[in-house]
Amino acid sequence: MSQTSFEIQQAAVIGAGTMGRGIVMCLANAGVNVQWVDNNPQMLEQALTTVAQTYAHNVRQGRIDQAEADARMARVSAAADYAAIRNVDLVIEAVYENLELKQKIFRELDGLLKPEALLASNTSALDIDAIAAATRRPAQVLGLHFFSPAHIMKLLEIVRGAQTSPAALEAALALGKRMGKVSVVSGNCHGFIGNRMLHPYVLEARKMLLEGAYPQQVDAALQGFGFAMGPFRMYDVVGIDLEWRARQLAGKGQDAPQVQVDNRLCEMGRFGQKSGNGYYHYEPGSRQAEHDPEVDALILRVSEELGFQRRDIGAEEILERCLLALVNEGAKILQEGIAGSAHDIDLVYLNGYGFPADKGGPMAWADQQGLADIHQRLLALETRQGDQWKPARLIGELAAQGKGFADR
Ligand code: NAD
Repeated sequence: MSQTSFEIQQAAVIGAGTMGRGIVMCLANAGVNVQWVDNNPQMLEQALTTVAQTYAHNVRQGRIDQAEADARMARVSAAADYAAIRNVDLVIEAVYENLELKQKIFRELDGLLKPEALLASNTSALDIDAIAAATRRPAQVLGLHFFSPAHIMKLLEIVRGAQTSPAALEAALALGKRMGKVSVVSGNCHGFIGNRMLHPYVLEARKMLLEGAYPQQVDAALQGFGFAMGPFRMYDVVGIDLEWRARQLAGKGQDAPQVQVDNRLCEMGRFGQKSGNGYYHYEPGSRQAEHDPEVDALILRVSEELGFQRRDIGAEEILERCLLALVNEGAKILQEGIAGSAHDIDLVYLNGYGFPADKGGPMAWADQQGLADIHQRLLALETRQGDQWKPARLIGELAAQGKGFADR
């Protein structure tokens, strides 16, 4: 570690929801004391119970002994307000995904914490520089993007803002290591590495529903390729309503054709696994995704209303469009310097998004295909389907030199 870096011993987490709970366990399991704040005292109480239950479950499973469970739990304490956490080395914020709310919290914490303390956000996509700008310590602000469930998923995206200092990054990387994470540093852009690439991938999947495919076909094709879960099963797990509510809050994006199926599902209360129905049906207490003819009928209605002429879409086309969408966006992320290497992008997809390990990640897969081949295939899609398939400049350049992403 450099002289200006420091070890994080005391941390605080703001927010006791889904992510806050997992993050608190990551810290406590790594030996870091955590103070926990939520403006909803009931939520905090519930969250403390959940953490205690998780540790008790780990003891029953034989994964840790009672003494270890007690030691972990003893590191976690509720804090009444921000004044109570003024001496911590690091705060990780995991409140609702709203920029103004996060800025308000960062501004307040900046006024209270010691100058060398780090301020991190678990935002999934928001602008880290805009959050840092609410403070007088932008060099100490960064993103720590955990994946759900945070205490289980290996990936940690460490988001470097324009002014984040090397010492802050180093401290975050050291913490990632202590927590047993695979840490990948990402530049600051909407969605960082993982969610930015997910966007065009899911867009293709959704478009294919309107053009003629059904969720189970799309998922089967991608699972056949080796993905842990196809995109629609993934949305059922994450909750279809999250993006739906975000579109409503933002007041934009709700009219786009490709989200009309999602909108209808949410209007019917079909939010995914948690509500027993989403793209699939779930029997009470079961996580088994079952084909639901009602969803097929809904998709047919929506695509007809939107004027699509449905056609058969085979597994080959599903794979081609979803995988090339990932690769092309990955190439843009690389050429913009958002990711330091193709390998980093692959790590994100292998550890956070269930990309098949034997294929090495989307960029390694593209290298195996050959970038000249990928370039041709993107050009063919561009001819058939339009500008969104224009190959990233980097793909053309590397292909012309007979190189792959890994050579860069
Ligand atoms: P959540 O709704 O489960 O929890 C949010 C918590 O924040 C609630 O307990 C709420 O009471 C608390 N809160 C709200 N305003 C507060 C305030 N002013 N002060 C203190 N506490 C406050 O949300 P979540 O799913 O845990 O997401 C939290 C953040 O993590 C979001 O930025 C989200 O985008 C990001 N994220 C979510 C996931 C996921 O899969 N859920 C994955 C990665 C990142």
